[in-house]
Amino acid sequence: MTRMVMPDSACRQIEVEGPTGRRYTTGRNGTFTVTNPTHERRLREIGAFPANVGGTPTMSGYRCTACSFSAFFTTCGRCGATCERETS
Ligand SMILES: [Zn+2]
Repeated sequence: MTRMVMPDSACRQIEVEGPTGRRYTTGRNGTFTVTNPTHERRLREIGAFPANVGGTPTMSGYRCTACSFSAFFTTCGRCGATCERETS
């Protein structure tokens, strides 16, 4: 099961064609859940992408200037020092 986001945020519905096809409609937060792996692959081809719930360390975050801890906030969660936005 994957939470997906429409390729275009203005798009509220997306349809998968074929014998197992069905129509997906986005919820209030602009995402929809796909349980069929074939549909997920098809939707990725169209341009939909997995919703990033909770974020990942690879996203643009912050890096502690004191201990190099990867943080999501400007204050380090490990030592409390100030973090700078990661540019890579
Ligand atoms: Zn730190």
